[in-house]
Amino acid sequence: MSICYIGVGSNLGDPVEKAQQAIIALKELKDSSVINASSLYCSKPMGPSDQPDYINAVVKLETSLRPLALLDALQQIELTQGRVRKDERWGPRTLDLDILLIDNLQIENERLTVPHYGMCNREFVLYPLFEIEPLLILPNKKTLSTLVENCPKNGLQIFNEIQ
Ligand code: ATP
Ligand code: CA
Ligand code: CA
Ligand code: CA
Repeated sequence: MSICYIGVGSNLGDPVEKAQQAIIALKELKDSSVINASSLYCSKPMGPSDQPDYINAVVKLETSLRPLALLDALQQIELTQGRVRKDERWGPRTLDLDILLIDNLQIENERLTVPHYGMCNREFVLYPLFEIEPLLILPNKKTLSTLVENCPKNGLQIFNEIQ
């Protein structure tokens, strides 16, 4: 079994519902179980700013799926939730599921880079991850707490239903 962390993001349709649906889909994922999920967070878009704010979360998953099978399964969930792949990088999307970490593995191939190349400087990844795993140490030996301390929040907030 591997422990992995999945970054969830959505900014189209009903992003809160999409994120919640994604967590449900992860709970139903074969050969896997969800161990923990962060709160939902509201973040400012990366890249093109003429798009809605994002809802983000991080999910801790235990799985016996091999890394590429996990990626296949996550991309299948993205498609089921109506994601249409467009050319524009970081453009709006109904659902994005990124593999952040798998144990202490370092993977570098055509389809998969683990740890996720952007995770160390993205507030919408680091803060939710820190919420569920404050003592985490990355494969590069950096502590998550140090990364969080050095990462501006850029408007990131815990999403509050009653806003
Ligand atoms: P970013 O990767 O900067 O967060 P993005 O999530 O918008 O941008 P996508 O269009 O969702 O990028 O993914 C492009 C490709 O990235 C996928 O087809 C996948 O093969 C590849 N990829 C590489 N490493 C990972 C990973 N750790 N998790 C998910 N996809 C990955
Ligand atoms: Ca992403
Ligand atoms: Ca992605
Ligand atoms: Ca990607």
